Amino acid sequence: MSTGIVTAAYIVASIFFILSLGGLSNQETARRGNLYGIAGMVLAILATLLGDQVSGYNMIVIGMSIGVVIGAILAARVQMTSMPELVAILHSFVGLAAVLVGFSTYLDITSVFTSVEKTIHDIEIYLGVLIGAVTFTGSVIAFGKLKGIIGSRALILPARHWLNLSILVACIYLGYEFVNAGEISTGMTPLLIMTVLAFIFGIHMVMAIGGADMPVVISMLNSYSGWAAAATGFMLSNDLLIVTGALVGSSGAILSYIMCRAMNRSFISVIMGGFGTTVSSSSSGTEEIQGEVLSISSSETSDLLGNIDSLVIVPGYGMAVAHAQHPVSEMAKKLIANGVDVKFAIHPVAGRMPGHMNVLLAEAKVSYDIVLEMDEINDDLPEVDVIMVIGANDIVNPSAIESPDSPIAGMPVLEVWKAKQVIVLKRSMASGYAGVENPLFFKENTRMLFGDAKTSIDQVISGL
Ligand code: NDP
Repeated sequence: MSTGIVTAAYIVASIFFILSLGGLSNQETARRGNLYGIAGMVLAILATLLGDQVSGYNMIVIGMSIGVVIGAILAARVQMTSMPELVAILHSFVGLAAVLVGFSTYLDITSVFTSVEKTIHDIEIYLGVLIGAVTFTGSVIAFGKLKGIIGSRALILPARHWLNLSILVACIYLGYEFVNAGEISTGMTPLLIMTVLAFIFGIHMVMAIGGADMPVVISMLNSYSGWAAAATGFMLSNDLLIVTGALVGSSGAILSYIMCRAMNRSFISVIMGGFGTTVSSSSSGTEEIQGEVLSISSSETSDLLGNIDSLVIVPGYGMAVAHAQHPVSEMAKKLIANGVDVKFAIHPVAGRMPGHMNVLLAEAKVSYDIVLEMDEINDDLPEVDVIMVIGANDIVNPSAIESPDSPIAGMPVLEVWKAKQVIVLKRSMASGYAGVENPLFFKENTRMLFGDAKTSIDQVISGL
């Protein structure tokens, strides 16, 4: 296939990717967005395979077959609750690919670059390997934290800012040595040392970020994986990879900004780490929390719901764990049919990945017009008769507002305690992802409906 046709196919694929991003920004058009993305990727792969750069198909067929089989099995098997880990580990692959492509490009003896072009090419390689290495180890640690293999608390080393600064200075110096190294053998040493330092930096950066700030890390690594792909595109002189990487990188950066706003944090302060560590006895221990825990049965809940005008449902990670979205949707439909004004309130960081709750509710066919974002509904909560908190914890924790010492202090939360009555569905008194006690459970107008959320909702429905 001629270079012109490949370029034309790449431009069409880029347009598909842009349409895909546009589609994915809205629930009603998300499916279409997905189809655009698939079409763009199929076109991109076909054009690349048929392009002049490919001289043989054996390795490509073997590599793609292995990838297709592993990817298809993983995608078919993955539970919705494990999606965030899968996304994190996929980001790590992009990072690792950038590192490997960087090394193989550097070792390519057929390279034709000389003088200024060579310097630019070397800088591309160096930056590609640097971003890729940080993305790789950072994503692996994020995977561990999301899977629960690594604790969600922030790891704060005594001189962590000095450590980061030293790594930065060392990487700049090594970059200078690398670009000025005449021979491949001389340049290999600074490249290898920088790779190890970048691996350490990726680990340290994500380990230093505390529980509740993980959403920012996820979106930030999403962004990094895009820039790593763009850097790979520069190394391979592949325009589509540059465009696609830049699209992922910039949309991930916008998502990081949205997540930071949702957490009321500045991006820089999250990256510097340390949030989620200022746990003082007043915020983490139960001794400061006033009030007693009052429980409610499912039949009492059904009776209560039979006599109300308005209900707000706040879903959280526990709804995903319990697979309760379908019964929750059924309960909402029943109550709407009974004349109750039912709304869903979605916190931007509910669950374990951006948009987690929206995906679950869409899957359970909850009408989009009753699903409201936190900013749209928070002010109306005091007027609501009953709020049902289904498997949510951190996102409804009053200590974010009331306790300046709390690790989640300053994070905007759904102020559910202002409603006339709150019912919290969860299995125990355990804390949420951020590991912070929740005074909501001890408030006078709160009732705890203990048990698995799906079982509880099924019982409530049968009692309605
Ligand atoms: P939380 O993790 O704070 O709380 C979830 C609650 O669900 C737990 O307290 C748990 O209590 C309960 N639960 C678990 N399983 C069940 C079940 N089967 N039935 C009923 N309840 C259950 O979740 P939130 O959604 O409130 O908050 C999200 C947290 O995750 C925030 O801290 C956020 O920063 C963080 N995070 C978010 C990401 C994102 O992108 N959205 C990414 C990474 C982290 P119990 O065990 O007692 O049942």
